[in-house]
Amino acid sequence: MTRRLIDDCFLTDKERMSHAEALALIRARVAAVTGTETVSLAASLGRVLAEEIAAPLDVPLADNAAVDGYAFASVQYEATGGFFPVVARIPAGHPHPQPVPVGAAVRIFTGAVMPAGVDTVAMQEDCETHEQDSVDFVVIPPGLKPGANRRKAGEDLRAGQVVMSPGLRLRPQEVAGLASLGRTEVLVRQRLKVAIVSTGDEIIRPGQPIAPGQVYDSNHALLSALLETAQADVTDLGVLPDRFDVIRDALANAAGRFDVILTSGGASRGEEDHVITALDEIGRRHLWQIAVKPGRPMTFGQIGDCVFLGLPGNPVAVFVCFLLYGLPLFAGLEGADWREPVRYRLPARFAIGRKKADRREFLRGILVPGEEGHLAVAKFARDGSGLITGLREADGLIDIPEAVTGLAEGDLVDFVPFSAFGLRDR
Ligand code: AMP
Ligand code: MG
Repeated sequence: MTRRLIDDCFLTDKERMSHAEALALIRARVAAVTGTETVSLAASLGRVLAEEIAAPLDVPLADNAAVDGYAFASVQYEATGGFFPVVARIPAGHPHPQPVPVGAAVRIFTGAVMPAGVDTVAMQEDCETHEQDSVDFVVIPPGLKPGANRRKAGEDLRAGQVVMSPGLRLRPQEVAGLASLGRTEVLVRQRLKVAIVSTGDEIIRPGQPIAPGQVYDSNHALLSALLETAQADVTDLGVLPDRFDVIRDALANAAGRFDVILTSGGASRGEEDHVITALDEIGRRHLWQIAVKPGRPMTFGQIGDCVFLGLPGNPVAVFVCFLLYGLPLFAGLEGADWREPVRYRLPARFAIGRKKADRREFLRGILVPGEEGHLAVAKFARDGSGLITGLREADGLIDIPEAVTGLAEGDLVDFVPFSAFGLRDR
């Protein structure tokens, strides 16, 4: 096979696709590809909702007491003061069937249904009780507003109200919300089927003895772990050698079986890099080369209906590109809502002497104490994009825009915490 002339060999960063363009292209090209399935509530955390959820009933279902105390009618209280005989005791879960007679109060507990005839609750701590002729009386302090300490039926949700829409990724609070509506199961998107491919003659799997010139495959571990947080179904396609035909055949074979193929390495334009040429032969390339550091040779395309994301080889670039482009891509393919990760403006505890214009740079940022108890951000001291140590020490990414060519200590920079990408904080 003759190697195609690569026409963008001499591209400058200005001509390469920008971060914003690459992201927009990825977001524009993908739509939900997975079907739906019903899962138990217990298995729904992190999944993408595929149905509209409406409240089947008012929540709460009935007016109930918000505190432990004494319930009474506010009309009576305002007319004749707060001195009532206590005629019943109503614990939560045991509704009182009869209305409370005019001029009487009831002992009531948090969550118990308010019986007919009363509308206001005084906290037990504020009340005095005494017995007179073997009848309990309660003295309610003045100043309580009608309706105090009463939760109204439907005050959280009204029957029929839409509370969740398709595309929502279920967090613990959503799972709780579904449980509060009586749900035991929920319709969600099926997980994406993702194949992970490592490439490189020098790459070996942990567990084997290592010789000079060899490198343990950390990208596979990294991507599997990242995909775990993204709730995908992962298949390991192993480490492929730097051989065009092997890579092409493996990709062609995988394309029919997976929603997404994720590769790392072999994506540059070196003679030993065959991923792009293989993609060009059996599929289509929508994007190659971005004006972003780290991540320049990242590739996005498709082989038949299978989405292809070709990540660079360096672990730092793999990590950064997965967060920046992989997550929104996956969100699109799963029909999940996606929004830009939150960012914070923080003073830099570092300077940049010179930066290439037209290139977006993402540095590994470490949160440090700043002035007056506020935070500042330092950058990982060494630049090498192979250093996993830098990822481990970092709390997030510092985003340096294209236009910036230098930075003084104390300048404000954009910091995106890893937690904004759904990763755990340290
Ligand atoms: P490449 O893009 O194939 O030229 O790889 C760039 C760098 O990343 C080289 O130093 C590779 O050894 C390294 N690399 C590639 N794949 C992996 C991997 N799976 N695990 C660790 N390092 C890798
Ligand atoms: Mg390689």
